Amino acid sequence: MKELEFEDIKGLLELPKRITILSHTNPDGDAVGSSLGLSAILKNIGHDVTVILPTDYPPLFRFLDHIDETIISVVNRREATHAVDKADMLFLLDFNGLDRIDHMGPIVQEAKGVKVMIDHHLDPEPIADWMLSDPGASSTSELIYVFTEMLGKLKHLDLEAATALFVGILTDTGSFKFATNPRVFNVVSHLKEIGVNDYILQNRLFNSMTEKQLRLIGHCIANRMELLDEIQTGIIHLTKEDFKDFNIKRGDTEGIVNYILMMRKMRVAIFVTDQGNIKLSFRSKGNVSVQELARDYFGGGGHRNASGGQSKRTLEETLNLLKEILPGYLETQGIVKVSTT
Ligand code: 5GP
Ligand code: MN
Repeated sequence: MKELEFEDIKGLLELPKRITILSHTNPDGDAVGSSLGLSAILKNIGHDVTVILPTDYPPLFRFLDHIDETIISVVNRREATHAVDKADMLFLLDFNGLDRIDHMGPIVQEAKGVKVMIDHHLDPEPIADWMLSDPGASSTSELIYVFTEMLGKLKHLDLEAATALFVGILTDTGSFKFATNPRVFNVVSHLKEIGVNDYILQNRLFNSMTEKQLRLIGHCIANRMELLDEIQTGIIHLTKEDFKDFNIKRGDTEGIVNYILMMRKMRVAIFVTDQGNIKLSFRSKGNVSVQELARDYFGGGGHRNASGGQSKRTLEETLNLLKEILPGYLETQGIVKVSTT
């Protein structure tokens, strides 16, 4: 690690560079939005930019300009490896450790280019030469705006970039319902001034479900939701058979975990899926943190109120483990088990 200062980064960006932007596996709206937003800005400044995503993006984001030019490294490893190796600078966006980019981890670790991490997750690992890490930011997309402002390059933030950043902010805040701060409202105000049509974006992102997706939500709530009232926690799980029966594709299960928190009595929501490997999503309200739960028991992490992880156990074992550890863990978060009988 070279331990650079911001002025070094700014200086490097004064002359045209070959830049590769990388975000995390199973990219969400913020991964895609921050990557395409920064890419558009850096191209406008005069750099040669390539975007890599380790796995494919949800079809929901297909409308974004130039998204079809991203390299999906799991299907195009050689091209991705080349793009990392040849880069003068690498921007690592919306992740805080090399395990979040799977097969690209070792390749990025070996890369010679200057590494810049821009991210808003807790506990960043020291993998970059310079880092803009702010867990108080709503999203990495908000931080791309901040970084552009720090560079003094806001005039290069055009409508294409503004739209991509707005998508990242909208998705990571659930339409400004959580993880907000005063700055993000100033940022979106400027993005709207630049010309973003937020009404169209809201409809594209949140009123664009297929019938199958809405019926899947019904199935989850009617048949797959278990409420542990005494610890104010709800768990929804999906089996391998559910994935087959509902023909579930990338992005179809996004946001299902949040339905649990629509109940006033619930403060913690957990979504567990079995697609051969077990993945967990954690959400919580207010001061209750799920980050340590994801980190300490499920090899993951994220934010106080939204984290994720995985389990090497079977689905049934994972659900049993959760029920075993939750009362003790939640006690550390101020949720004391009460009898509901
Ligand atoms: P989601 O539940 O939507 O997959 O993820 C919620 C949050 O947790 C996101 O901020 C995401 O970056 C983080 N997250 C999800 N899965 C993992 C994981 O396996 N490891 C880590 N460190 N963070 C994760
Ligand atoms: Mn994010």
